[in-house]
Amino acid sequence: MKIKNKKFGILGMARSGISAAKKVRELGGIAFISEFKAECDIPEPNKIKEAFQCEFGGHTKKLLNNDVIIVSPGIPGNIPILQEAKRLDLEIISEIEFCFKIKHPRSKIIAITGSNGKSTTVSLIHQILLSAGYRSILAGNIGTAFSSYPIENEDIDFIVLELSSFQLELINTFKADVAAILNITPDHLNRYKSFEDYAETKFNIFKNQTLNELAILNLEDTTSAKFSDKINSNLKYFSHNSKTDIHFTDGSIIFGLKKFNIQGASIKGPHNISNMMCAILAISPFNIKDDTIQKALETFSPLAHRMEYVKEVDGVKFYNDSKATNTDSVRFALQSFDTKIRIIMGGAGKGEDYSILIPFLQQKAKKVYLTGDTIDDMKTVFDGHVESESIKEFEDVIKKAFTDSQKGDIIVLSPACTSYDRFKNFEERGNTFKSIVSRLKQ
Ligand code: ADP
Repeated sequence: MKIKNKKFGILGMARSGISAAKKVRELGGIAFISEFKAECDIPEPNKIKEAFQCEFGGHTKKLLNNDVIIVSPGIPGNIPILQEAKRLDLEIISEIEFCFKIKHPRSKIIAITGSNGKSTTVSLIHQILLSAGYRSILAGNIGTAFSSYPIENEDIDFIVLELSSFQLELINTFKADVAAILNITPDHLNRYKSFEDYAETKFNIFKNQTLNELAILNLEDTTSAKFSDKINSNLKYFSHNSKTDIHFTDGSIIFGLKKFNIQGASIKGPHNISNMMCAILAISPFNIKDDTIQKALETFSPLAHRMEYVKEVDGVKFYNDSKATNTDSVRFALQSFDTKIRIIMGGAGKGEDYSILIPFLQQKAKKVYLTGDTIDDMKTVFDGHVESESIKEFEDVIKKAFTDSQKGDIIVLSPACTSYDRFKNFEERGNTFKSIVSRLKQ
């Protein structure tokens, strides 16, 4: 894509928007950033104003005076300014598509999406590639924007991308050498017309692949099965139950004639076995030694806020699963323990049906502690099925779960909701949980 002297309108002034604007400027283009929020709600607006032409407090026609519009992932595609841009036939792309167009052709892309497990899987893939001596970068939804790396240079071997459904919305030519969908379960239903619409957006990850590229699906995921005929590339499956391309049998992951023992892996639970199988398949075209893979599986540590062990107080163990922002991740949290747990749930809802958790809670929860904005919604659904108690304050709910506990009990924060009712993000919620736990009296 020619960038020099071309005009780029960037919609959204968050991490990926700012970083795309910097990249446009670096490559000789002209960037204009348009932000819906008022100037006073943006961190360090003066720095942005000094560096770029921009506008705050709404998107005006100035945005339309550009050749290409790069849309940040948080912005819905149907807002009036984008409809106007479509009418004017402007090129509208996501930051991911923009980066794909400017990256060096020799860098390979491994892209992973799914409702849950993306961060864990891309981090594991990245670790395997690094241990094999490759120059790999980890980008996308996982903290560092794709455009913030020197991707136009040829010295990057692999770009490992975590992609959310939002980032897959405006994909035109983007093509991954390896693309995977870990699972598709209800999430972000407040953004999409329907669950099918959400699932279809995720399948954009395979959109431009051909038989030369690898596609990976979860054989047990019924939603993925419904859409699999959309895939035109070399499709491989991972499975817990069937002897497919890669599968889990008797404590080991079996991949053709290769066998990986996962007893020593520090990420646990059936969901993490899926993540490991997906990671092994994803790096399979690149001739990495079995020993290197085996070692990486053993040394890879769980990421913070994903079933993270916090500490033991008076014989009670605490786990922080603040990143569990939907029901499916909570289902897996419940399945990761051999004994019944005390589970703290609730936060800001995303339109999910909590009743699907009832059988799992009945089987695996000693008691459910409800907190946050969703107290009433969850209570209505759980009443008469599982024992629950509602406590508004976050600190109080943790203390109550602790006072109810006896030696040997396990308390898990696994909300099934986002954190935006009371926290900036899931990290702040998880860190607050850990700091409250650390202050509990022995
Ligand atoms: P994502 O980046 O997709 O949100 P993470 O790896 O950050 O995924 O994990 C988010 C939550 O989902 C955590 O609670 C984690 O324990 C759970 N989880 C991780 N992998 C899976 C999986 N394959 N299936 C279901 N839940 C998972």
